[in-house]
Amino acid sequence: MLTVQNMTDLKGKKVIVRVDFNVPLKNGTIRDDSRIVAAIKTIEELQKKEARIILLSHLGKIKHKEAPEVIEEQKKKNDLAPVAVRLGELLASPVKFSKETTGEEVKRAVDELQDGEVILLQNTRYEKGEEKNDLELSKKWAKLADAFVMDAFGSAHRAHASTYGIPEILKAEGKPVAIGYLVEKEVENLSRCVEVKPEDRPYLAILGGFKISDKIKVIDSLLKKCDKILIGGAMAYTFAKALGYTIGISPCEDDQLDYARKCLIEAKGRIILPIDSVCTDAFDPEQRKSIITTENQNIPENMEGMDIGPKTQALFASEISKAKMIFWNGPMGVFEQAEFTKGTIAVCKAISLLKDAFTVCGGGDSSAAVKQFGYTEKFSHVSTGGGAALEMIENEGHLPGIDIIR
Ligand code: ADP
Ligand code: MG
Repeated sequence: MLTVQNMTDLKGKKVIVRVDFNVPLKNGTIRDDSRIVAAIKTIEELQKKEARIILLSHLGKIKHKEAPEVIEEQKKKNDLAPVAVRLGELLASPVKFSKETTGEEVKRAVDELQDGEVILLQNTRYEKGEEKNDLELSKKWAKLADAFVMDAFGSAHRAHASTYGIPEILKAEGKPVAIGYLVEKEVENLSRCVEVKPEDRPYLAILGGFKISDKIKVIDSLLKKCDKILIGGAMAYTFAKALGYTIGISPCEDDQLDYARKCLIEAKGRIILPIDSVCTDAFDPEQRKSIITTENQNIPENMEGMDIGPKTQALFASEISKAKMIFWNGPMGVFEQAEFTKGTIAVCKAISLLKDAFTVCGGGDSSAAVKQFGYTEKFSHVSTGGGAALEMIENEGHLPGIDIIR
């Protein structure tokens, strides 16, 4: 795959860069700028090559089926203007901003760009055709540019006009399409978890989070590849019920019991489930009367499992200590509540003690938990793309927004 680093003859050329500036905003203030920071390296590389840089990103959701006044409200909420300001500060060079996504004003602004200059266009999702990969919209954007760089890993699992339509057209016209630094790093690290080399075994997967039904394809894929799978989080209770343990009022997907049984049979003892749980009578802290730790797999009536218990933490830590490669998705408990962070922290800690293992965390909440508990630096890689990282594992390393570049 062509990378931004290997692109040549870009002086004076217009390059569209699809970035992921989908930052958390509150009343127009950016609460976390890490996604902007993550794009800097690619933008600076293009500035060094004296390209004229056109940035495209989505921000939030805009439901085009709603009433016009609702759409206007959503557009106002998801205006990219503050991002252009922050980007300018980070690059220490001015960043232009276009309030429009397409049209005459955009064309004019792009034509006025000087070598090394940067313009950010308004939120791609202002356009109805973006999520439909509308051909006319893709053509309008593609016409603006001589080349395309994909650096929005978090959007690479979506075949939208800005992630798929544009590179498809430019490629057909024989123009260069490439991946940026961020995508390159994600692909490199996540591919290693998909094409497993002998030296990366034992390969351990750690799964948690909320629903089995969201992750069936990930579980299937990891079952084929991994030597062992540790399962915690809410999804562990469906597995526990499938094995005949009592789970009280813990979250359970009864329609996934057969699937859980199928996995357990296929795994032939390679799936390891919690052997104790931290439980409560109420999920809501305001209504809560008690928190207990069970002695074994069974959860009392009228109690729900909220985290893995201390025996499980030790068991999981011991399995982690033997691994050469780890892929982790899904927190071990309700880590948003202080009382139930211990399981997830124990996994972070056990991973942090590994000396020469290759360790990856992928998933929106899992990556947020690793960051929150201060363990990001201890992992070989913490993915920036929630859904995209999981789909990469599910689809044997393939994502539409990357395959079109390949
Ligand atoms: P990711 O985004 O990393 O893929 P998920 O979205 O699948 O992870 O799951 C994260 C959510 O799962 C968190 O909000 C967490 O509170 C919840 N969760 C984990 N364990 C439990 C549990 N025992 N009961 C209820 N919710 C849980
Ligand atoms: Mg999530």
